[in-house]
Amino acid sequence: MMNAKTLELLKPFWGDRQQVASFVDGAFVDGSGERITVRNAHDDSPAYSYPDADLAVVERADAAARRAREEWRALTAQARGRIIYRVGALIREEAEALAQLESLTANKPIRDARVEVLKVAEMFEYYAGWADKLHGEVIPVPTSHLNYVTYEPLGTVLQITPWNAPIFTGGWQIAPAITAGNAVILKPSELTPVTSLLLGVLVERAGAPKGLVNVLAGQGHTVGQQVIAHADIRKVVFVGSPATGRHIAAAAAQRCIPVVLELGGKSANIVFEDADLDLAVRGAQAAIFSGAGQSCVSGSRLLVQESIYERFIQAVARAASQFKVGDPSDPETQIGPIHNAKQFAHVRNMVEGALGEGARHVANGVEPLPAGTGYYVNPTVLAGHNGLSCSQEEIFGPVVVAIPFKDEADAIRIANDSRFGLAGAVWTRDVGRAHRVARGVRAGTFWVNGYKTIHVSSPFGGYGESGYGRSSGLDALREYSEVKSVWVETAAVPAAGFGYGASLE
Ligand code: NAD
Repeated sequence: MMNAKTLELLKPFWGDRQQVASFVDGAFVDGSGERITVRNAHDDSPAYSYPDADLAVVERADAAARRAREEWRALTAQARGRIIYRVGALIREEAEALAQLESLTANKPIRDARVEVLKVAEMFEYYAGWADKLHGEVIPVPTSHLNYVTYEPLGTVLQITPWNAPIFTGGWQIAPAITAGNAVILKPSELTPVTSLLLGVLVERAGAPKGLVNVLAGQGHTVGQQVIAHADIRKVVFVGSPATGRHIAAAAAQRCIPVVLELGGKSANIVFEDADLDLAVRGAQAAIFSGAGQSCVSGSRLLVQESIYERFIQAVARAASQFKVGDPSDPETQIGPIHNAKQFAHVRNMVEGALGEGARHVANGVEPLPAGTGYYVNPTVLAGHNGLSCSQEEIFGPVVVAIPFKDEADAIRIANDSRFGLAGAVWTRDVGRAHRVARGVRAGTFWVNGYKTIHVSSPFGGYGESGYGRSSGLDALREYSEVKSVWVETAAVPAAGFGYGASLE
């Protein structure tokens, strides 16, 4: 049973409903599967439980999406744009309630949730403007044809998202998908379904056809797999861990369904001796400690030039001890708990493993694991090298491994000595070096003298095991489109072989 405050906040969205259910074809539909229990990360108490969705719910979502995608496509591009813009406006109107709910149900500090909700509004506003600008192209072919290219909706797309930023990631994927003319089946993490469900509600309230965005409340290996196996989906966009991503890509391949994978990272944040070091210390902290490190782009490897290494990492560790770690509902809290028990155990094991492998805990007056209940990990700086497991595996917690490097070539070599390639950064006052390092590091997003800025207007995605395909910006609209090339003969007397060859003449 959800607590009274959560239910009160949910009332304007789902009335007197008492438990989580899927939002399908404009209505909440209870599942009949195994009960899923979600716990509070702050004190390890049970938060709420609900039944997993089932095949009947999946089939309803599939049918609703098939119908809605036709209705949606029949609207003018301008009408679709107006509806998408209205989704953004509704999110702004409900911003405080959505932020409270994100904080309560996703264990996220309220100050972070407030920022993320407004970014979701921005996503719909940004894409709304694209709705009537997705025109095709005319290609200057060397034959007598008019050749033009159009971008068509795929149909229904399946989106599978993780628990670390549910409303942000939901908006990040729903907005471009519907702008490109598609219907959506969204399967958020079973641990954080609530605010994703509300996005479905708000899309419908904005005037979209019922069933345009269907949100399944359930587990990946049950309903997620059922959608991949049975529903008429034309693409899967997956955001989550590399292991699950591989599994999903293999399942989708059985039906020739293309996949976009947004996976993890082990991003290198590179600090040269000529950088503005005060700024770089702040940047290094923001890179790894914000969101308790539960961010795919976290700067989890801190590469520091040898000449300033010890001084720099001591400064990062000292400053890290000043953060307020605690209850996510407290507006003063800067770093909340690790989201769930499984992830908490993983972070703990990685820290213990790193110390066992010889990493040094850069003491900052606080131990990595505070006493008490709740899944808390203090901001932790480990000194080590790139061969340690903590330098190669994603920790997804507030734990950074500091690694010394000699010179520019060494920094780029270490940065690229990773299976991942999601993001990275360089701190330097040398403009030429900044560009050389940006070019040299294999990563989908790279910052110079900054970290973690992303925006819906700019493409985002990974290299290597960080995944493939791009989200956000114009690239996401292309991902969510089918490309068609149309050839129109314009010659009064067509060329031999209809321009292809003379063999049939
Ligand atoms: P996860 O892979 O365990 O789960 C992600 C989603 O996949 C959930 O909705 C889950 O229910 C679903 N799922 C699990 N098994 C499935 C299956 N067999 N079939 C279909 N769906 C299945 O990831 P997580 O623990 O929720 O999230 C953490 C991971 O996400 C980290 O590795 C992090 O780096 C990554 N992440 C990446 C990005 C990015 O944009 N690159 C953003 C956020 C998080």
